[in-house]
Amino acid sequence: MSKITVFRNAESLQRALGGRGGRSQVGFVPTMGALHFGHLSLVKQALKECRQVVVSIFVNPTQFGPKEDYQRYPRNLSEDRKLLQRLGDIKIFAPETREVYPDGFTSSIKVGGTLGERFEAEFRPGHFDGVATVVARLFGLVRPERAYFGLKDFQQFRVIQRMTEDLCLPVKLVACETLRESDGLAMSSRNRYLSPTQRSKAPALYVALQLTRLALISGKSPTVAERIGKAFLRKKGGFRLQYLAVADAATLENPRPGKARVILAAAMLGTTHLIDNLKV
Ligand code: AMP
Repeated sequence: MSKITVFRNAESLQRALGGRGGRSQVGFVPTMGALHFGHLSLVKQALKECRQVVVSIFVNPTQFGPKEDYQRYPRNLSEDRKLLQRLGDIKIFAPETREVYPDGFTSSIKVGGTLGERFEAEFRPGHFDGVATVVARLFGLVRPERAYFGLKDFQQFRVIQRMTEDLCLPVKLVACETLRESDGLAMSSRNRYLSPTQRSKAPALYVALQLTRLALISGKSPTVAERIGKAFLRKKGGFRLQYLAVADAATLENPRPGKARVILAAAMLGTTHLIDNLKV
């Protein structure tokens, strides 16, 4: 029977991590809960590579805009706990907001340049400041050797990578592939907001990415390829496209010949924010 322990504060978590056997090789998977198989794939990888695994479950208020879904974001710790129980010995770190942001907390981390300003950042002002700050804070509270992130949130991963490198944070980042439903839709906690009609439409975002990719590898320019992907979504109807763009996979600047590229896309389907990407 695997052992799951829930910690509400960092002090008790650190005591448990530092017990017999030492606190070496701590693998950390930060999440906002409402876990699905995408999250679980990160946890499985951490269990393979680390002696101790911490999964944080914290819906971080500072990464939501005033009109976003912070209040209605799904929260279900007992369900999350059951899912993790099947995987192995895991420490769940589920802090209260004041553990993460105690009285007097005023710092904020901003990753500048293209990474912190284009695409998602343009449509969600302040989002990545919230993400970078909470991840840095959680790194400080958990003190992991390795931390696992999903490539579904490609720009987020690049932002965290930049911050980790710029601030010399002593943690190795591990990027994990996107898990998808059988019809191609990227798994996401937000998919549960979708009505049945929206759910049947949602995989079109991934199809648009695939069409864009096909156009690129058949020699079309990024601009033409983007146009093809966008036109497909427009024809599908129901999406409010925020961006669909080919970018340099390392910097997210405009693509350069001979360098790895990624196609990034985000759209609103009704009131649900969908995000996905595909490497070329
Ligand atoms: P979230 O709870 O949405 O903040 O996600 C927590 C972590 O899980 C992030 O590193 C995400 O990129 C990752 N993640 C979310 N969805 C998926 C997915 N479908 N496949 C792989 N990783 C994912």
